[in-house]
Amino acid sequence: MKKLLLSLALVATCLASAQNNTSYWQQHVDYKMEVDMNVDNFQYTGSQELVYTNNSPDTLDRVFYHLYFNAFQPGSEMDVRSLTIKDPDRRVGDRISKLTEEEQGYLRVSSLDQNGNELSYEEVGTVLEVELDEPILPGEKATFNMEFEGQVPEQIRRSGRNSSEGVALSMSQWFPKMAEYDFEGWHAAPYIGREFHGVWGDFDVKLTIDKDYTVAASGYLQNPEEIGHGYSDKEVQAEGDTHTWHFVAPKVHDFTWAADPEYIHDKRTAEDGTVLHFFYKDNDEIKENWKNLQEKTEELLLFFNENIGPYPWDQYTVAQGGDGGMEYAMLTLITGERNFGSLVGVTAHELAHAWFQHLMATNESKHEWMDEGFTSYISSAAMNQVMETYAENPHTGSYRGYMQLANSGVEQPQTTQADRYNLNAAYGAAAYSKGAVFLAQLGYIIGKDNLDKTLKRYYDEWKFKHPTPNDFIRIAEKVSGAELDWYLNDWTRTTASIDYAIKEVTEADENSTKVTLERHNLMPMPIDITVRYSNGEEEMIYIPLQMMRWEKPAEHENWTVAKDWAWAYPTYELNIDKPLSEIESIEIDESQLMADVKRDNNLYTAEEPSQEKEGKE
Ligand SMILES: [Zn+2]
Repeated sequence: MKKLLLSLALVATCLASAQNNTSYWQQHVDYKMEVDMNVDNFQYTGSQELVYTNNSPDTLDRVFYHLYFNAFQPGSEMDVRSLTIKDPDRRVGDRISKLTEEEQGYLRVSSLDQNGNELSYEEVGTVLEVELDEPILPGEKATFNMEFEGQVPEQIRRSGRNSSEGVALSMSQWFPKMAEYDFEGWHAAPYIGREFHGVWGDFDVKLTIDKDYTVAASGYLQNPEEIGHGYSDKEVQAEGDTHTWHFVAPKVHDFTWAADPEYIHDKRTAEDGTVLHFFYKDNDEIKENWKNLQEKTEELLLFFNENIGPYPWDQYTVAQGGDGGMEYAMLTLITGERNFGSLVGVTAHELAHAWFQHLMATNESKHEWMDEGFTSYISSAAMNQVMETYAENPHTGSYRGYMQLANSGVEQPQTTQADRYNLNAAYGAAAYSKGAVFLAQLGYIIGKDNLDKTLKRYYDEWKFKHPTPNDFIRIAEKVSGAELDWYLNDWTRTTASIDYAIKEVTEADENSTKVTLERHNLMPMPIDITVRYSNGEEEMIYIPLQMMRWEKPAEHENWTVAKDWAWAYPTYELNIDKPLSEIESIEIDESQLMADVKRDNNLYTAEEPSQEKEGKE
């Protein structure tokens, strides 16, 4: 049933794009690879047939491949960047600079042809620059045949051999990978630190490896009866020393695998039919956590299905590997020696990336806040339910992270290329915390119902594609009816912050009260005000932001809409039809979903009248 969904989704995607954005197109790749891994020296050879479809309106006279493993060599951009940034990632530090020749990574192309004609190419660090024999015209296909050889580096960042937890092979970004070409041109970014962007397509991979190794991979195993290793119930005796594993991964933009001779392999079929695979080391310290993780992973999957949209593949894999947690197609590699909460937390985050990266495939180098921020937002909400915390606002950690950043003096706009932050810490807070706040705060601006609908429509219209920030905010505009371009612009492309204040509360006359509000910082916002009266009543007053040309639906049973606030006016006068003596408190954004960087000027409370009386006696 889910496979049907997948093919229907393709048709729906084409129709939707035809309806909504006739200019949208994306390139297509079909990879066939045969790879031979030598587990004694961690070297491998491969052949790759790549059928490339140019769906662009442009004629291409060159192409680029990523050769990510070349980053793990002394003197590489990744190495030098880590040696020169003030707060290097501790996993990298100076480790690349100290790798011996046997420990380094490399990926080398030994031959490449286009439709049978040999091509000239140049290896430039982590990128292969290729001059085409004949240009690829709009709508045409070209077939590239390549031979390559690689060496798996010591596990330093994301991929590698012999991880600190003893996983033999974490194989992400391991093959020559065609760079993305889209409406902005080529995205052949060198591999410096982060992150990835790929071309949608189908992968067919045959992997030959020592028969004792159990393999976790992106695709569906085509020959389980020949393999065993928990994929079939049969015990299989290999004829030689190796097995050849055949995987097929449809409609993905990445293919990752991991392998270890000591992997335990468990399976669980979730309620929606997805088969969850778990691979972890046979280590008594972690076994119980990894068993208990399996039910939680199903609950997380069902949460994301319900709150974003159905997971469309038939399989998802959680494998111990890598150096933290990283999302890949149909699979994640996470470190496994964690307490249970942390193990579920990292799985929640990486599984959420199956939507916010592996379905809505944003460019992680350019729009890092979209994949990391949206993932952080939805995984916090999922953890709140799955771990039965039930906090009213599950995003307070993200707000704290953003506040620290906003008050740190080192903030750079979220449009900064992911590698080009002065500090790794500034990248982290901008992408994860400020990115999550982008969504939580959008819920404040347009209302939670509209936010929930926006996420679902975003999935419907942009799955299996490459959405941009504008594509997302346009969905939010269409769902809510509000103008939101100001929010996307000021929040993501500047470091403007929010500070609204209650400047003064005075008696207007004996029946009414005048509240003077003030905007201190540049970021515009609509304002929710909660007023509490001495008779116990409560009122919510909503001040629309004029440039939104819209009013938020009522969020309180006693809901008053005040006149618009036009942004350029630094102050605003609000009249409340109650005498000052009957007002107990007035607060700007009691929900704290608006990321006001200075909250101590948001609250007015009536002075205790008893003190005055005492003074007079
Ligand atoms: Zn992430």
